[in-house]
Order: sequence, then structure tokens, then C-alpha cells
Amino acid sequence: MKKYAIGIDVGGTRIQVGLFDENTQLLSKKQYLTDKEMSAAELMDFLSGRVKALAASAGVPLSDIRGVGAAFPSYIDYEKGITVETSNIICLNDQPVRDMLAERLQMPVYLDNDGNLAALAEHRLGAGRGHDDLIYAELSTGIGGGLILNGRLYRGMHGMAGEIGHMLVSDSTGYPCGCGVTGCAQSISSGLYMARYAMDRIKEGEESRILDYAGTISNIDTVAVGRALSVNDPLALEVVNRGAEYLGRMFHSLNQIFDINVFIYGGGVTNLGHRFIDRMIAAYRHLSLMDQKYPAQFLASTLGDHASLTGAALIVK
Ligand SMILES: [Zn+2]
Repeated sequence: MKKYAIGIDVGGTRIQVGLFDENTQLLSKKQYLTDKEMSAAELMDFLSGRVKALAASAGVPLSDIRGVGAAFPSYIDYEKGITVETSNIICLNDQPVRDMLAERLQMPVYLDNDGNLAALAEHRLGAGRGHDDLIYAELSTGIGGGLILNGRLYRGMHGMAGEIGHMLVSDSTGYPCGCGVTGCAQSISSGLYMARYAMDRIKEGEESRILDYAGTISNIDTVAVGRALSVNDPLALEVVNRGAEYLGRMFHSLNQIFDINVFIYGGGVTNLGHRFIDRMIAAYRHLSLMDQKYPAQFLASTLGDHASLTGAALIVK
């Protein structure tokens, strides 16, 4: 009986492959570093090899697997099964990934955007259970997301819906973003650009414990910022508050468009902790006129690192 499904989550830094049972419970998982030097064909060889190895190590014949769902940080052409545009894994641009994988694995393959799949998984199995409408925000190196409207994943006209990180939230703040503008939420509040801001302030001469924890300026990341925050370093507090403030604007605009006030957040930047999250929520509540009447729920992801991977297994029909 074909009762298993495989999920793949391809990220800019790491790849996860997971085997799931008929209730989409994760049975076993392997994780690898993403090699950005690979061609698309080499990456597909690698993924199909890892899928076969995972099934073999679990003692599951490939004939018992219904199919493979794969999450990519890409815009997806669902009809053609193409990864149209992938910001940080360039070899995947305009590649017929669905057919490339299906040919290698001889089983059905389904693709979707990683933020969409994390939203779907949180909706069905995670923090969003019981909510017909919700917005998922992935606060990570970049900022992604997904929209669940009326109980269904909303992909938009071209599969690009839910890219909440590229909403314009400022015309005077931020770094030039890959989306083509300066001042989108990602250009200010992503892990990458919060760290960049800390670097620039330190280069300008600001003294900060962030540098002690990072070692060198080029090593500064949100982990170092978080450690400095825990000893009340003023620059760390400034970096975190600035990032949180613009996320509050992002959630406020989303609420205005969709009249949704259930927000699920995940991603490594949330490890900055409650001072970051509380400030983000406060920034939202400060802007939102309707929040007193209909208080928003900000819910931490319960699937965490496995959200996109689980969503990938969920789209296997
Ligand atoms: Zn952007």
C-alpha cells in the first residue's frame, strides 16, 4: 500500500529530506548543506539520490511512496512545474524541476514555494489549526510568508502571493533588496539586513558588545545581536527595536488588506526572543485602530524548522 510521502525543503543554506506516514507525521529526516555551485541537473541528481537513500534506510520500498513534495524559495509556475525565479539558488531559475525530479524518481512530484508550504502546514497541523484565515511570516535570513484565505492556500495569479517581505514599509530606511526596491520589510527587518545595520553602526564607531560576541565585523549576525541584547547592549536594543518596528508596519498593512488578525511567525530571527516579538506586536497594536475591538493573535510556529518540509509532504496527493 502506498502510504508514505516524501517532503523536500531546499533552502539557501540547507536542504532537508523527510519521510512521512499517512497522517503526515515525520518518521525520519536527513539534513544537508546546500551546494550553490551545483548545476540544476546536479542538484536534481543529489535530491533524488537522497530521497532513495532515506527510503532505503527506513526500509520503505519506493513502490510504497505516493510521491514527493518539494519546497523551494522560488516563484513557481504550477502548470508547468517550473521554478521561475529563485533569489538565492540561481541555478534553479526557469528550470523544469518537477519533471526533472519525476524522471529521476519515477514517481509523482509536486512543487510549491517554501513560505506557502509552511503556511499550509501550520494551518493543517500547527499553530494555525482551527483558523480559516491566517498569515504566516517566516522571519529568517530573508522574510517570506504564505496566506491561508477561507481555509485554503492562496497562491495569487502567478503563484507569487504571500511574498510579504517585499511589502514597502518605508521610503527612507533600508538597504537595496533583491526585489528591486529599498524600503521593503526584508530590506530592514530580515536577519541579513538587521545584521548589516549593526555592522554599519559599528563601522561608524559605535561601541557594542555585539562585536565581542561576533568576533569580527563580518561575522555579525542576529545570534550575536541576541546575545548582546541579553546583556542590555544599547546598540543591540536599537537594532532589534528598529527591525521589530517595521515588521509591525508590515502586519498592519496585511491586516488592512485582508482583515486577518491571526499571524503565525517562525524562522531563526524569532530566536531574538520575547523583547523582539513583544516590540513587533506593540508596533502593530500602536498602528491598528481595530485592535482594541478585535485583538490580533500573534502565534509562534509550532512546526518550527519542519514547517516547509511538512507542507511539502502535505501537497502529495
Ligand atoms: Zn524586497
